[in-house]
Amino acid sequence: MNAPAPDYRGERVALLTRHGKQHVLRPVIEPALGCRIEHTDAFDTDRLGAFTREIARAGTQIEAATRKARLALSITGARVAVASEGSFGAGPYGALVPWNVECVLWLDERRALQVIGWAQGPAMSVQRELRTRDDLDQLARDAGCPQHRLVLRPEHPDHPALHKGLDTAEALGAAFAECQRVSSDGRVWAESDLRAHCNPTRQAVIRQAADDLVRRLQSTCPACHAPGYWIDKRVQGRPCCECGSPTREPMAERWRCVACDRAEDRAVDHGACADPARCDRCNP
Ligand SMILES: [Zn+2]
Ligand SMILES: [Zn+2]
Repeated sequence: MNAPAPDYRGERVALLTRHGKQHVLRPVIEPALGCRIEHTDAFDTDRLGAFTREIARAGTQIEAATRKARLALSITGARVAVASEGSFGAGPYGALVPWNVECVLWLDERRALQVIGWAQGPAMSVQRELRTRDDLDQLARDAGCPQHRLVLRPEHPDHPALHKGLDTAEALGAAFAECQRVSSDGRVWAESDLRAHCNPTRQAVIRQAADDLVRRLQSTCPACHAPGYWIDKRVQGRPCCECGSPTREPMAERWRCVACDRAEDRAVDHGACADPARCDRCNP
């Protein structure tokens, strides 16, 4: 029922990264859309915020991705850009399972629209204080090193003398010795390097977000044919099977266009009623 997606075949799509994201995004996006991702590293995106806290990210995840996409447009002169931005924190399982949320943002200046793909999942993100070489060996095992790289620094999580991207035993050993030498009390702070090229677990979540972006771009608005026609939210109110009053169970999905006012509710499980156990009246 949807119109064909806008034609991105042959489109130059700018991507600004120094963290190898072109290797993650290209295999997903180029074959699906027929576009050509034009990689640039002409700006250090760590200046917009770094996971190792030297520079705090300003604004939201979407704002940060939008800034990167706009920079990519101005550097390359392309009319379409793609950018990715991740965040880490507590997830649905609390602080015990570190959680990674990734967005991949598509900025189409020609059509004046923005579409965002999302994915999330458990992160490989370990943070720990070390005192001995045995602590270091244990950390490397727990943090999935050498496939996942590490950051070491003296004493505490905000010490500026950091060593990033460590993956070999030699590099880890040398950085550990140097951190201990600088540290006032011999403590060394260690954490996972969360930059994309240092963390394959994160790469997998970025890939899923790119898949989500492609699905959204291939879904077009029935009214204006813009890409990105997608579920905006779930509408509650499925009637209770026992008393018929509306529950908080989903009744419909609201689809919304990113370019025009078009929106519609599509029923989910058409005609089904809700388990009375989920009803505030029958089971308060
Ligand atoms: Zn009821
Ligand atoms: Zn539309």
